[in-house]
Amino acid sequence: MNLYNTLTKKVEEFIPNESGIVKMYTCGPTVYNYAHIGNLRTYIFEDVLQKGLEYLGYDVKRVMNITDVGHLTSDADTGEDKMSKGAKREGKTVYEIADFYTRAFLNDMDELNIKRPSTIEKASDHIDTYIKMIEKMLDDGYAYVSNGNVYFDISKAWDYYKLSGKNPEDLMIGVRDTVEEDSSKKNPADFVLWFTLSKFENQVMKWDSPWGVGYPGWHIECSGIASLTLGDKIDIHCGGVDNIFPHHTNEIAQSEAYFGHKWCNYWCHGAHLNDKSGKMSKSKGEFLTLSLLKDKGYSPLDYRYFCLGSHYRNSLVFSYDSLDIAKNSLNKLRNRVSKLEKDGDIDNDKLSSYVEKFKNAFSNDINTSMMLTVLYDVLKDEAMNEATKYKLVEEFDGVLSLNLTNVEATVVSEELEREILSKIEERKEAKRDKNFELADQIRDELLSKGVRLIDSREGTSYELI
Ligand code: AMP
Ligand code: ZN
Repeated sequence: MNLYNTLTKKVEEFIPNESGIVKMYTCGPTVYNYAHIGNLRTYIFEDVLQKGLEYLGYDVKRVMNITDVGHLTSDADTGEDKMSKGAKREGKTVYEIADFYTRAFLNDMDELNIKRPSTIEKASDHIDTYIKMIEKMLDDGYAYVSNGNVYFDISKAWDYYKLSGKNPEDLMIGVRDTVEEDSSKKNPADFVLWFTLSKFENQVMKWDSPWGVGYPGWHIECSGIASLTLGDKIDIHCGGVDNIFPHHTNEIAQSEAYFGHKWCNYWCHGAHLNDKSGKMSKSKGEFLTLSLLKDKGYSPLDYRYFCLGSHYRNSLVFSYDSLDIAKNSLNKLRNRVSKLEKDGDIDNDKLSSYVEKFKNAFSNDINTSMMLTVLYDVLKDEAMNEATKYKLVEEFDGVLSLNLTNVEATVVSEELEREILSKIEERKEAKRDKNFELADQIRDELLSKGVRLIDSREGTSYELI
């Protein structure tokens, strides 16, 4: 297995600390609003990573946190508290907000066939762990109390900039230009481990601590939950690229200070999903959610297929045209699979050669589009019997999770497909002849049979409704 490691900035062979076991930590959502489909892209890539490793034979212990406290509207220690902001917006308590959006997120995960991590922990449930860690960092001189807050002293960290590749001068410029200065800090990039000097008088989630009533910083929750559930060393830590700095940089600083040794060997970051106007973000107000896609007639797995078509390290621009193409391709794929004869002898040579190709595609830094190509090659291989093809599709779908063998509703008979394709051709000619009345008539006729035509720049596709 080869993986791109943000820490070393190269693709490396993956070797876990303990043979056969992978300890994987994935940062979870901040539950003050619905997840947007950009967030969900990151969870889909992490899911493929987990399932692919399991397919290779590893036992994956995956942990995810739910951020229900400590994340401010800026990823640095400034701005409003995200949870309080959500509560104010909806006239609910922070606990109600956290509960509602946690459920909504888990539901999105289920609908996208994302396997639930073996352990999911709420940040607010582990305050004692953070306090214990902070106390040790204070004792060992990595942290200091100033003006009521506890800060991590980044000058004491072991190579603070190793993950982000940033340098102190960059940060100084960033601090001067964009972040409100905090005169309590020794170094401008020091970050808060524990807030008592709350800017938010109405902060609801507060706990007693040796430094006064307050709440933990955002970064300590991931170090704390990881230490509690996975021990002092982890193999893979994932998130979106926006997590590299400051969140993961600060997680490394704290965890290595606390444990006194290197903490995580492989850091994997997914590139962003953007919309045409730029990065998708929950704080922008209107944003794309899975429910919105469903309202528009797409299934969550159409979106999963759309994501698998591109590499997780390439940023991806969302458009409905591309989602239409994904939907149509997935439908056709399921249709082809549904026609395969399931019973019969398995050709073991063919089986193992394609399994190897699929595993190689995955092992090549999670090359999902190559994994899909191997699947299509299986279906195209005329020298392979159908039972072997079906078995391979079933196996590969264990990683791709596109319900290739268990969705009947979207299946189109060969006869209907021929008819639809010939009608699409007829409609194209009508449009070419500027006979729009006939073109609309054909569209409506198909619609009355439950077939919706989708026009895009790439041509016309269809979906069953
Ligand atoms: P949040 O709920 O903001 O803490 O983010 C949850 C996850 O989504 C984190 O791993 C982020 O790095 C990731 N993320 C945020 N924005 C995007 C985006 N536009 N595309 C892909 N992943 C994102
Ligand atoms: Zn985290």
